[in-house]
Amino acid sequence: FKRLPLEGKSKDELHEMGETFNHMIDLLETNFEKQKQFVSNASHELKTPLTVIESYASLLKRRGMQEPELFAESIDAIHSEAIRMRDMTEQLLLLAKHNEQWNLHMSEVNLNEFLKQTLHAFQNAYNRKIIFNNELQPSLMVDTDEQKLKQLMYIFLDNARKYSDKAITVAARIKDGQVFIQMIDQGIGIHKDELPKVFDRFYRVDKARNRKSGGSGLGLSLAKELGEVLDIKIDLESKEGIGTTVTLYLQF
Ligand code: ADP
Repeated sequence: FKRLPLEGKSKDELHEMGETFNHMIDLLETNFEKQKQFVSNASHELKTPLTVIESYASLLKRRGMQEPELFAESIDAIHSEAIRMRDMTEQLLLLAKHNEQWNLHMSEVNLNEFLKQTLHAFQNAYNRKIIFNNELQPSLMVDTDEQKLKQLMYIFLDNARKYSDKAITVAARIKDGQVFIQMIDQGIGIHKDELPKVFDRFYRVDKARNRKSGGSGLGLSLAKELGEVLDIKIDLESKEGIGTTVTLYLQF
């Protein structure tokens, strides 16, 4: 560390430097607390599926061979909890990156082709109908990281799938010199008091209900980071019992 040049400083200047220093210490302390909280939340969240896996594995060991129904149930539970852990670990690894470590692969992407392929793949993977209202010119190009944009869209589409059972509508158009992509579901929606918190790490509106839907509470915080690195503004509007609309604003 370089010593701060204090000689010749007036009392006011020294006071100001002291204030800045205190402010820096406060920031470091807050960040350290946040990191500690993050590690503690992550460990807790990973422990839950591990406990389920452990219990089912020990059941299998004791009675699995004699009881075919128990065998099937245990294998299913172990499989789905293992997938949950894998997804959560992937999300945690991404969240642990700093913005400058994201390693963007930018290229000119034909947005029409990209959207058609992405929605087609999602529809096939989850067997959920998507209504696509596309008003973009076929030749529209955007400069972006295709894989990360896909990841971003998948987070919202996946939530639309998990928290609604109807078709998902996706709309794409240009307005005021910006491209916007909207993902609309008519699902359970989010109460207005919960809205400011859903982008927080590990936040889930109703843990018990959401455990069944296989969520980790990390999707939207990852989406927020992806939006920042891709320079895409994200707007989430929701009404409990009515549904949720997510709008992505892209520059082109
Ligand atoms: P999760 O993995 O639990 O879905 P997210 O970070 O993606 O975590 O979302 C945080 C919480 O916000 C979810 O647990 C859910 O309660 C709520 N949420 C997100 N998207 C929707 C949606 N489309 N409809 C209703 N609730 C949603």
